[in-house]
Amino acid sequence: MGIEDTVPDHSAFSRARNELFRQSDLLREVFERVVGDCITSGFGGGEGFAVDASLIEADANKCRSLPGSEWNKDIDPKTAGRAVKDYLATLDDASFGAASPVTPKFIAPSDPAAQWTGAQKSKAIFAYATSYLIDVKCGIIMDVEASRAIRQAEVGASQTMIERTQQRFGIKPDWLAADTAYGSAPNLNWLEEEKAIAPHIPVIDRSKRDDGTFSREDFSYDQKRDLCICPAQKEMSTTGRVHADSGIRYLASVPVCRSCPIKQKCCPGSDARRIVRDVNEAARDVARAICKTESYAQTRRDRKKVEMAFAHLKRILKLGRLRPRGTTGAQDEFTLAAIAQNLRRLAKLKSQTAAA
Ligand code: SF4
Repeated sequence: MGIEDTVPDHSAFSRARNELFRQSDLLREVFERVVGDCITSGFGGGEGFAVDASLIEADANKCRSLPGSEWNKDIDPKTAGRAVKDYLATLDDASFGAASPVTPKFIAPSDPAAQWTGAQKSKAIFAYATSYLIDVKCGIIMDVEASRAIRQAEVGASQTMIERTQQRFGIKPDWLAADTAYGSAPNLNWLEEEKAIAPHIPVIDRSKRDDGTFSREDFSYDQKRDLCICPAQKEMSTTGRVHADSGIRYLASVPVCRSCPIKQKCCPGSDARRIVRDVNEAARDVARAICKTESYAQTRRDRKKVEMAFAHLKRILKLGRLRPRGTTGAQDEFTLAAIAQNLRRLAKLKSQTAAA
């Protein structure tokens, strides 16, 4: 458009956005081009990344929602609205439908992919989550992904972003910093075993006991002999069978436990102590060891850079509530915001470099 051309009606922008841009990968192409510019300028692509997610309220009203049990997924996509089509198209997606089999408490028929969540400290809302993968050295957003506002979906989004950054730019970090939400055993194992990325992530561990008896962490593991060693230095063996809870059970000997002087502090209510190790326990042990290192104290501080990007997103860019509905609407808004934040960051970094 020239400077004196007539500005088209606002509906022309909405239609272009909904009917042309949504069908293309235009915003993603722009985002990746900006990230590519950051990398070629020497910013981004460092050794450490951080990942986190933040909730953005969806354009969905509780008053018009249905209990999740009353929601029928068998809708004809031909007659459905755009947001419902989006929902149907993402039922098998790790960041949306496939993230959890649990039926949400409420569903908004106008935007069924929006998650009813009470994760924010104020009242429960319908929301999407935006996830950022950030290069902690320069603060560049390496990737952005929309997902349902539940932990499993956010973890799925983080894996998608790590894979995509590697495919698009050939960049994979040496380490990844994140909070406990990303500390599940399968995710830690995926990072370590499949991607060779050191997880600077606190482990989700529900085995801690608060009744004064020994917790899981008081028992060590002998990898060579596949045995657990109890606090009395006795061996606990296993059949190697993996149980339904993804755990392998290690049992102490009943006669040994009966004659043990510290039995009251170990298993006062049973004949012998049993310890369950997750099939991915080795990955959890590595993450636990990293959490005790000096470098972890620094990467924990680095993690705050993602939170700062989200604070900027909400306070300065004012993206506290979405206007578009549906998963593609959320993805477009989050991608556009990340483009703006990266351009601003790139300009700042370049001016700092020029002044130096
Ligand atoms: S009670 Fe059994 S498992 Fe527990 S410390 Fe004693 S010997 Fe070890």
